[in-house]
Amino acid sequence: MAEEADGGGPSRSERKALEKARILQRESERKIFSLVGRLLKKPEAERSEEEAAVLRLHRDTAEELCRRQVRRNVLKRKQEEVCDDVEELKTKIRLLAAAIKQANRLVVYTGAGISTAASIPDYRGPNGVWTQLQKGRSISSTDLSKAQPTLTHMCIRTLHKEKLVKHVVSQNCDGLHLRSGLPRSALSELHGNMFIEVCASCSPVREYVRLFDVTERTSLHRHGTGRRCHHCGDELRDTIVHFGERGTLEQPLNWKGAAEAAEAADVILCLGSSLKVLKKYACLWCMNRPASKRPKLYIVNLQWTPKDDLAVLKINGKCDEVMSLLMEELNLQIPAYEKADDPIFSLATPLLPEEGNTHSREVISPPGGQEDCSADTEEQTDEASSVQGGWFGRGYGKGRRKKKKAS
Ligand SMILES: [Zn+2]
Repeated sequence: MAEEADGGGPSRSERKALEKARILQRESERKIFSLVGRLLKKPEAERSEEEAAVLRLHRDTAEELCRRQVRRNVLKRKQEEVCDDVEELKTKIRLLAAAIKQANRLVVYTGAGISTAASIPDYRGPNGVWTQLQKGRSISSTDLSKAQPTLTHMCIRTLHKEKLVKHVVSQNCDGLHLRSGLPRSALSELHGNMFIEVCASCSPVREYVRLFDVTERTSLHRHGTGRRCHHCGDELRDTIVHFGERGTLEQPLNWKGAAEAAEAADVILCLGSSLKVLKKYACLWCMNRPASKRPKLYIVNLQWTPKDDLAVLKINGKCDEVMSLLMEELNLQIPAYEKADDPIFSLATPLLPEEGNTHSREVISPPGGQEDCSADTEEQTDEASSVQGGWFGRGYGKGRRKKKKAS
């Protein structure tokens, strides 16, 4: 067979030789890395003269391996859940209580960690959505639809009622702040609310609060829920802001309320958030001011957060535990969640009879009301044990390479 004679690039045999050289080079690098790695594991005193010489020869590789080890250790420490011991917790909570009493404008930022007691797994904790999906496990949806406001949600609502908290900014989509009775004017749900769908064609935007998760057919950049506006007939969309999206809806995101609250705040209390996403929203942190003029930061979280170094106080504890001690310290009662008082029932727009089959998610049944009859929940009990669509766990695939299917 004749070689390619177009005179352009390298010939076939040249390409093959190049490729072979590359493979050999990679193989040799791999061998050096593994050899140096083995030698580094040996205590220095036990290394032979020869071995020490090998390490000197491959100093760059040795240094690179040491850097990697340091990075791994740091990452491991950041993922660990730490709990303060009882005495330390009490001392810190006394400090937090004093700060709350003295604050003129306290703003609370919340993340998934405040909903874990409601059986909603958090995102990045050891049992979080992210972690579970990364291990190839599925997420149970059965508890998800039965979630109710936690002790922490009820405490926050009480603190607002007592005029100790001005505003709450949440990155949770579970709607539990709203359901705890916190007024919407005091709430910014930055990433949306799974119970709210809207008609963006109506002006002003028309909201439909539902008693079920409206997001089962929606995903990144695909927000249509399949139902239609009762007024103009256009398709409704969910309010969820996925990774990589920019939330533009005025409500329930309420960016205006969040930005104004942060601007005026003298204390910020962060509860159960890794702050990895929230830290990117510059206006929430008044970073344009010198450090001494920014609101004082108090953080309650089990894991490391990127704001820990800037915080006046970091409390390593579970939100419900910390909040219950805090309320005791503030001499405030924690009301139990009462379904009868859940505002979602008065806010909700019922589905029209012909819309009964537009979703298959479980419906929150009103207090003393009948069990859901609009969705065929009976049939789906087996199938629905893992979430197929919706807001939950979405965005996870972003930046993650698809695995090649083994044939
Ligand atoms: Zn409309």
